[in-house]
Amino acid sequence: MTFERPAIARMEGYTPGEQLDDARVIKLNTNENPYPAPEAVATALRELSVAQLRRYPSPTAGAFREAAALYHGLSQENILPTNGGDELLRLIITTFADAGDVIAAAEPSYSLYPVLAAVQGCKFRRLPLDSDWNLPSDFADQLNALNAKIAFLVNPHAPTGKLMTSSAIMLLAEQYNGVLVVDEAYVDFIAPEENYNLCQQINSCKNLVILRTMSKGYSLAGLRFGYGIACKALIEPMLTKTRDSYNTDFISQKLALAAIQSAEEAAKSWLLVRQQREVLLLGLQELGFTVIPSQSNFLLAQTPSGSKAEDLYQQLKARHILVRYFDQPRLDDKLRITVGSAEENTKLLDCLRECLSLAGNSLE
Ligand SMILES: *Cc1c(COP(=O)(O)O)cnc(C)c1O
Repeated sequence: MTFERPAIARMEGYTPGEQLDDARVIKLNTNENPYPAPEAVATALRELSVAQLRRYPSPTAGAFREAAALYHGLSQENILPTNGGDELLRLIITTFADAGDVIAAAEPSYSLYPVLAAVQGCKFRRLPLDSDWNLPSDFADQLNALNAKIAFLVNPHAPTGKLMTSSAIMLLAEQYNGVLVVDEAYVDFIAPEENYNLCQQINSCKNLVILRTMSKGYSLAGLRFGYGIACKALIEPMLTKTRDSYNTDFISQKLALAAIQSAEEAAKSWLLVRQQREVLLLGLQELGFTVIPSQSNFLLAQTPSGSKAEDLYQQLKARHILVRYFDQPRLDDKLRITVGSAEENTKLLDCLRECLSLAGNSLE
């Protein structure tokens, strides 16, 4: 006997990346930023007092909304602050899809999407990326043929780190009949030369929702703060109807505000991540890995012939280094490695060299 709805009884929950509580562990498995958050966040944290928690917070995180609108050159009506980017994903689904509706995503992708779709009783369809990890050219047609109410894309893509251009996404949004969600969790790590900027398109693409988070670019994964960017007609039902009455708390509002107002300082960590991304890429290639160039803060690396990704993952773990191994087709010969600090990346490369030579691999 169970009290759960049948859809809940049938579904599996989300499996988060391992979080070992051990100071010796080098964590390169969940794409956290290795550099500290802007100094103003620490200052804002020190200035908080318990007395400030007596009252309810701003229901819409008003000060943050204003600052985010300013940062993006948009209006407050275009911004929806949420309890992490993950809450935005849930709100999009509960607002724009009914039970039984189809939700689709390019596969492989973020494994939370199917979980949230299942909670709502939606059907989830995975549309495979092509052999170069690009969207199939008829992606919009496939979505429309499925009558998909919502489609999820990660850009830069996870787990490959590949970037789609803003114009390719705008074209897709134009051709697709449903709500297109572009998950920009890793957008801050894109090289400026790419000239990627989708935010300015939300008022011409009326079916586009962009996800942003403070977790990666601002080194605040523990804070749980993200936001959506879209035209007013998409933001409003989530803001006024489906959202929890106080979906972000006073403390996170204050710290997220300090963070976004310090975007220039945070950008220094983005530059460091890009530099280390190059170091790690070259180091992995030298060891015989095949690595996809990434615009994100992680690399998807195919292990050298003669070595198994799962074994390497286990051997690294035994040496207190965590990376991500996905036991699924197309990914089970690869490791997804978060770009760490210079010191962490050096340790990783040293350990990998050792593991590979133990496996009898020639490193010439
Ligand atoms: C990290 C991440 C998010 C959002 O994470 P939050 O910590 O909930 O803000 C969304 N999508 C992808 C693909 C991510 O990696």
